[in-house]
Amino acid sequence: MTNFIENSGGHFGEFGGCFAPELLQPVLRKVTQTFEKFKTSTTLQSEFNELLRNFAGRPTPIYHAKNYSPKNGAQIWVKREDLLHGGAHKTNNVIGQALIAREMGAKYLIAETGAGQHGIATAMAGAHFNLPVKVFMGAKDVARQQVNVERMRLLGAEVISVDTGSSSLKDAINEAMRYWISHAEDTYYMFGTAAGPHPFPELVARFQRVIGDEARAQILEQTGKLPAQVLACVGGGSNAIGIFQAFLEDKETKLVGVEPAGDNIKHGLTIGRGVTGCLHGSISKVNCDENGQIEESHSISAGLDYPGVSPIHAYLDQLGDAQYVGITDDEAMEALLKFSRCEGIIPALESSHALAEAFKRADKMNADEILMVNLSGRGDKDLHTVFEYLEKS
Ligand SMILES: *Cc1c(COP(=O)(O)O)cnc(C)c1O
Repeated sequence: MTNFIENSGGHFGEFGGCFAPELLQPVLRKVTQTFEKFKTSTTLQSEFNELLRNFAGRPTPIYHAKNYSPKNGAQIWVKREDLLHGGAHKTNNVIGQALIAREMGAKYLIAETGAGQHGIATAMAGAHFNLPVKVFMGAKDVARQQVNVERMRLLGAEVISVDTGSSSLKDAINEAMRYWISHAEDTYYMFGTAAGPHPFPELVARFQRVIGDEARAQILEQTGKLPAQVLACVGGGSNAIGIFQAFLEDKETKLVGVEPAGDNIKHGLTIGRGVTGCLHGSISKVNCDENGQIEESHSISAGLDYPGVSPIHAYLDQLGDAQYVGITDDEAMEALLKFSRCEGIIPALESSHALAEAFKRADKMNADEILMVNLSGRGDKDLHTVFEYLEKS
């Protein structure tokens, strides 16, 4: 299993591949070559590590959430990606990809964003590397995420509102790909998660690997043992693959991906209920309606609202090396409120899905067992959603 991601050539069993338009193949090959250079260049890797340390604030700590852990159940520990600059794990990915862009000689960056988190992260990296940024964002999201749009502008990015299709994240990705086709000679596309055409799943997984590498060393140092289970929320799957990778060979550690089930456990689960199909340039599990059309997901947490998922997770699911479950909006919201009050940390709604699942499991386990949850981001951005929810209920 050693480094199966890096030795995959972009194929994860029947999943993955590079089904991008013909006109993008040359630039995708150049991204792949530049990434190969990164993998063998100690200079580039130390620049990456230096930026993770001094720009992004790594390493992030792990924290024993004693009050949130059930009295006689397993200990819940969290990896504090909420403390990373920018407020979520996305900063790891954009720093790595901005280095790739610079090495390729790109003059401009483009990115898609749903709620705005990846757009903000890209804008931060663009400012640091002095590369102008255009962010493609569904018109619906532009309207409901005004504060994030302002943040991107403050960081110098231009936000392009996309009103094709359903004016949502998947349309923003389509539009960014279209734009890239006609600007591939001087523009780099910063993909926001471990999905999309090869080499993006592998590339993003590599830049997020630091989460698991740190967490594994930290838990061993502080407790002398490995977690019984590692849990992470899964939107496209980047924070989850980031923490999972370090534990893939630890047979005693179970890996659990938590997908958003929206208002009903029968909906939204891409790995749990999706079909095998091609979306945004790779084969993976996708959510379709009865006519085979891509179905929008409807999670209360915008960051998990992606109808596809990383081909690496589709593969781990098929192998049985990781398990994928669903948590509803109500369960995630309850976990967010409870964790905030008992630990003094406001988790992102996305991360709260993983916290909710951990709490369910911890109750049935022993006090000497450890559940490690990737706290992928902080919840300050979700205040509006939380208050709207509380007013309705
Ligand atoms: C974007 C985001 C996610 C979902 O993206 P993944 O690629 O699945 O990790 C999860 N948590 C937070 C805080 C996010 O901002």
